[in-house]
Amino acid sequence: MNIVVPIKQVPETSNVKMDPETGTMIRDGVESIINPLDLYAIEIAIQLKEKFGGKVTAVTMGPPAANKALKEAIAMGCDEGVLVSDRKFAGADTWSTAYVLVKAIERIGEVDLVVAGERATDGDTGQVGPNIAAAMNLPLATYVSKVESLTENSMTVERLTEEGYEKLQLPLPALLTVVKEISYPRLPTLRGKQRAKITDIPTYTVADLDVEENNLGLKGSPTRVVKIETPKVTRGGKILKVVDDQSLNEAVDNLIAFMKMKEII
Ligand SMILES: Cc1cc2nc3c(=O)[nH]c(=O)nc-3n(C[C@H](O)[C@H](O)[C@H](O)COP(=O)(O)OP(=O)(O)OC[C@H]3O[C@@H](n4cnc5c(N)ncnc54)[C@H](O)[C@@H]3O)c2cc1C
Repeated sequence: MNIVVPIKQVPETSNVKMDPETGTMIRDGVESIINPLDLYAIEIAIQLKEKFGGKVTAVTMGPPAANKALKEAIAMGCDEGVLVSDRKFAGADTWSTAYVLVKAIERIGEVDLVVAGERATDGDTGQVGPNIAAAMNLPLATYVSKVESLTENSMTVERLTEEGYEKLQLPLPALLTVVKEISYPRLPTLRGKQRAKITDIPTYTVADLDVEENNLGLKGSPTRVVKIETPKVTRGGKILKVVDDQSLNEAVDNLIAFMKMKEII
């Protein structure tokens, strides 16, 4: 069973700052980590490999520093890592990111299963996994919380829905996006860390992939961040000053009228 896990390196903070000029994220000076939700994808991929045999390859598209995320994935138990990195990929939106990742997955070789995280904590769209499935024409199950069974050519999974669970049977190869309920990510072992240190991580650049240059990066992205602003939360309240008994009675009357208008009482 050949499993590929696309992982994203994200800033180690939920306080993501954006460049208002370019509409892109400011990543300088912020420590990067593996997208926390991708750790669950890595974990279930390793568990499936341990049970059914095969190989797990982590792949990330990002700057050269994203190598660190791949080393961590190998330290957890992934067999290989692939870095997809080229200045021409910079500024990609979800469509262009998925386009390049698909080309990288095709280059990795025959794949039985792709396991992605539910969403990245920075971009937060949850689109890349389903985009990859669509581009590769793979059956897709999102929000997977349990892998119930797996055979050579099919698998049964449970996925979370708003009402509860849904059971799906998928022919392989397929793509899953997984949620936290699927398992608990293991910590890297000392042996894993040593293996990660000596494992070579190939870098795929534009020259290594069968990509159309006009589908890459900011220029090749069909979506644009036109404007970014922080929504202002205003309560639209009214301050009533109480200075004597009369203004107290007025304030109470106003409050009761307001609550009636809002159907609170
Ligand atoms: C309308 C729009 C415009 C944007 N414009 C810009 C822009 O102009 N410039 C810019 O820099 N960014 C832009 N972005 C952000 C950029 O698209 C995303 O950060 C990136 O494409 C990944 O999407 P995401 O973070 O939403 O990941 P999600 O779709 O939330 O991630 C889901 C899963 O996909 C996988 N995954 C995601 N990204 C990667 C990756 N790079 N490598 C490997 N696996 C991955 C992981 O398994 C992850 O858990 C834009 C986003 C949107 C929605």
